Amino acid sequence: MKTSSSFRTFLLAVAVPVFAAAIPILFLALVSWSDLMRKPQKPFTVWERTLIEQSDSVMYVCVVTDLKDSLDLRTACRDLTDEEIGSELYATLAAKLLATVQSPQQGGVGIAAPQVGLAIRVAAIQRLDQPGEPFVVYPNIRVLEHLGDTVRGPEGCLSIPGKRGIVPRSEGVVIGWTDPETLEPRTEELHGYVAIIFQHETDHLDGILYTDRAESVSDDPDWDAERAPYAMQGAYVKPAWRCSR
Ligand SMILES: [Zn+2]
Repeated sequence: MKTSSSFRTFLLAVAVPVFAAAIPILFLALVSWSDLMRKPQKPFTVWERTLIEQSDSVMYVCVVTDLKDSLDLRTACRDLTDEEIGSELYATLAAKLLATVQSPQQGGVGIAAPQVGLAIRVAAIQRLDQPGEPFVVYPNIRVLEHLGDTVRGPEGCLSIPGKRGIVPRSEGVVIGWTDPETLEPRTEELHGYVAIIFQHETDHLDGILYTDRAESVSDDPDWDAERAPYAMQGAYVKPAWRCSR
């Protein structure tokens, strides 16, 4: 009788409460698992979302002279999913890339996502070969084929302050990207200067800088003078919230 009584006491004091506590935990685990299996992955990482949403319309541009920036510039990018390309956040990023590359303090002909600290495959490029020379944002842009002879020309980069180089490139390329409207794959053959811009920007998406390919790199005598008025306004200062990452 003593044994039986102890067992009952054990049941009431330990086993029953433990079992009772386990039921809701098990239930929550099952719900979370089925939730995970059913829902698609949330688009963009937390940092990507933060950077896109928190940045001003003209985004801070990473430079090789900043240690953390230089790591961002060397990171190979991932492709965007269809869900991401169709999202509001992508539209925000596209608008901010366009505002940044066209801003008077940058004044570029192209900008790639790693230059604003994002390891995702997207670039805004000026189509100097089209009427009105519009800037266009290309998700999942890559060079599919190199065409023609090797040509040599001067290049500079918003992320490499005060320098320019002579870089050998293919005269033409076939590019491929995801159409942001239809989400269908697109291709186009390009020649001349715009083909050079595409090679420079798609290199950024693979963590490659023009200085890696340049035959020579020298000081750009106009760099400081062109930027001085904007530098005085703090246009190139990295926001404090970005430094805390
Ligand atoms: Zn560049």
